[in-house]
Amino acid sequence: MKRRIVFATNNAHKLEELRAIAGDRLEILSLADIGCHDDIPENEPTIEGNAIAKARWVRDRYGYDCFADDTGLMVDALGGEPGVHSARYAGPGHDSQANVDLLLSRMEGVADRRAHFTTVIALTEGDEVKVFEGRVDGEILTERDGDGGFGYDPVFRPDGYTESFASMTPEEKNAISHRGRATARLLEYFNSL
Ligand code: IMP
Repeated sequence: MKRRIVFATNNAHKLEELRAIAGDRLEILSLADIGCHDDIPENEPTIEGNAIAKARWVRDRYGYDCFADDTGLMVDALGGEPGVHSARYAGPGHDSQANVDLLLSRMEGVADRRAHFTTVIALTEGDEVKVFEGRVDGEILTERDGDGGFGYDPVFRPDGYTESFASMTPEEKNAISHRGRATARLLEYFNSL
């Protein structure tokens, strides 16, 4: 029988990505599917802390096992920023355009453009929590490239590729992305049970 599990996100794009990666092995419910419209807090100082807090929130209040992810874009020349602040880098509005504009302006004239995305997925199993991590290394471009994807995709070029995440098909991106890798670990775990 397919395992039913909640993915604690309100991001339709991520839900779609995750369902595509999971294929027919898992039935992934959204927060809307379980009637959860909470504004789940993300106030922890690390992406791992945020992922765990979100997964526990759903488990504790709604009784479903749940996984939650949190992602940060860490830019070496900015001391790891925007990091845990990636979603609200340019302010509380979670505005991707503004976030990318701010990043490009902070990186103007900066030679070292190394960066990586890290995703942490926290999975509740009753009172236990398991954590899965994925990372992709690359560089921050000097201007936007491509119009697919979301967030910082137009300005992130993964190592070994000539184009940004925003110029790739979802399949190409999922195969190498931070979230794709973290999700692969989650699925490996489900398969090992
Ligand atoms: P979240 O923790 O997944 O909500 O991500 C935090 C921030 O990182 C958001 O502003 C997203 O736009 C950005 N982000 C997360 N995943 C990706 C990605 O795959 N590509 C580009 N930006 C991302």
